[in-house]
Amino acid sequence: MFENKDNSKTSISQLGEFGLIDHLTKHFTIEQETTIKGIGDDAAVLNYSENQNVVISTDLLVEGVHFDLSYMPLKHLGYKAVMVNLSDIYAMNANATQITVSLAVSNRFPVEALEELYAGITLASKKYNIDVVGGDTTSSTSGLIISVTAIGTVNSIDVVYRNGAKENDLIVVTGDVGAAYLGLQVLEREKEVFKVNPKSQPDLEPYTYLVERQLKPEARKDIPNLLAELDVKPTSMIDVSDGLSSEIIHICKQSDVGCNLYEDKIPLDPQVMATCEEFELDSTTVALSGGEDYELLFTIQTEDFLKIKANPHLTVIGHITDKKEGMHLITRANTKIPLIARGWNSLSEE
Ligand code: ADP
Ligand code: MG
Repeated sequence: MFENKDNSKTSISQLGEFGLIDHLTKHFTIEQETTIKGIGDDAAVLNYSENQNVVISTDLLVEGVHFDLSYMPLKHLGYKAVMVNLSDIYAMNANATQITVSLAVSNRFPVEALEELYAGITLASKKYNIDVVGGDTTSSTSGLIISVTAIGTVNSIDVVYRNGAKENDLIVVTGDVGAAYLGLQVLEREKEVFKVNPKSQPDLEPYTYLVERQLKPEARKDIPNLLAELDVKPTSMIDVSDGLSSEIIHICKQSDVGCNLYEDKIPLDPQVMATCEEFELDSTTVALSGGEDYELLFTIQTEDFLKIKANPHLTVIGHITDKKEGMHLITRANTKIPLIARGWNSLSEE
């Protein structure tokens, strides 16, 4: 009944992922006093006690869309599924405490395979000190679908949203960006080589960091603690799941401001630079649009600059401007180009 045979219906790709979410959810209103923040941030924020908020976030990973089991070991997939969700909790400046895990599996998977998946989930939950408190298991006609919901807590005064950035605030990113996307390119290339010559032994030595960032990302649990130690409360924050440009655009749109990002400030690992050269890719494009870095991107007031300045985990990459000035990248050649969001938009046509 809902098939679009005569093209009279709207295709999902016309809206894209963010357009679709907005279209489907814009009529939801908040009626409960306990709902502090509903749809639109990295996590929802709920409040049941005076000064403690609960944050909750959920993500869905689909075989063939988000992962390819020909190079993603199941143990790593389990680990990554947890990281992807914890990252959204830390992006609220919160501490993650529990997860639930839901699976849809086809009978192509033996029990041993699912044990591997759960070995990764167990490792992640031990390392990040969270409890696995539930989930759901069902069958799928093809492939594997895994959904994780993460729950965390944060003092009401410490919670950070996407919408608090103000003109002149500094834009800060943790760690480095672009590596996970390149790791995927390396793995895809090896997969093609393997198809042609199954005896070939890939030499992944020059790409260890990239492959690790793709297969075993770590969420930035350390950052909310670090910010507390430095006595810095970001004015806005988001995690880098879709690429720097898409994330800064989310912050700017929700905060009603513009921004200037400086190309020469974007932190890149030496392996990212070397591999971009080898693959003839522009490292800035990779950093801006690659995604899956699971770093945190946040804004701080200028007076906090000295507190973060010397920290090796944190890099200032730009500043917030008036909305009228738009959202731009200032290139090494000092030209200003508009930022565009080209993240992992698996629902839009390429
Ligand atoms: P993230 O990239 O941080 O995981 P998303 O872009 O997936 O965030 O989601 C943006 C917001 O929209 C979040 O608040 C999320 O909870 C909400 N959202 C996404 N999909 C749906 C849906 N199908 N129904 C209701 N809310 C949704
Ligand atoms: Mg997020």
